[in-house]
Amino acid sequence: MALESETSYQIDPAPGEDGFLFVPGSLPVLLSAPHGAAHWRNERYKEEDEYTAGLVRLVGEITGAHVICANRRSSADPNADMDAPYKAALKEIVRQHNPRIVLDIHGCKPENGFGIALGTMKGASSPRHRPVILQILHEQGFSESHTGLAGLNVDKKYPAMGEDSREPVTRFAWEKLGLPAAQFEVNAHLRVVQRLSGASTPEPFTGDPQGILHMIATLSALVKALATV
Ligand SMILES: [Zn+2]
Repeated sequence: MALESETSYQIDPAPGEDGFLFVPGSLPVLLSAPHGAAHWRNERYKEEDEYTAGLVRLVGEITGAHVICANRRSSADPNADMDAPYKAALKEIVRQHNPRIVLDIHGCKPENGFGIALGTMKGASSPRHRPVILQILHEQGFSESHTGLAGLNVDKKYPAMGEDSREPVTRFAWEKLGLPAAQFEVNAHLRVVQRLSGASTPEPFTGDPQGILHMIATLSALVKALATV
């Protein structure tokens, strides 16, 4: 909650500020949370993927992964717009730090019948890493045959393919940077510790404490395993 509180969901960056944060690490894995704050999509501001910024920062502290996350409202959608400044920053980070893979973390609605949806462009964006990702997720108890928060949706609901004019970070990383990439859509129950004031949705929401701890452990296990692939 302390890390997440440093994100201003609905406040624009001050003049000269980027609106996103980079925390360099010591392992060759990059964690990304482009929707950590509200962002402009389809002629309106779309709500933030709550606690994805806090989640990647905490997992970065635990594992030593590099971290980039949105920390102010964005007038572009980094997971759609080709010219989003977030993507230019990602490109520069990759050039300087040479990570082996980017894990792009998002949030999906609590009603979804799964805990995590993995998107790898149906395998194209991370051919060598995908089997390791699936192995770790299975070891952590997530499965395509489970329903509810232990459920795993693989390249069906959110495959991170995008369209011609809508370019997900995963597709950008793989096609434009040659960097293996995978997208994770995480159910709100597995990330939202407690909805903060300033959130785009005003109703109170509290996730599942054990589930959130397990998500932190799962992402940490993924980073450690993928750092050597
Ligand atoms: Zn998102």
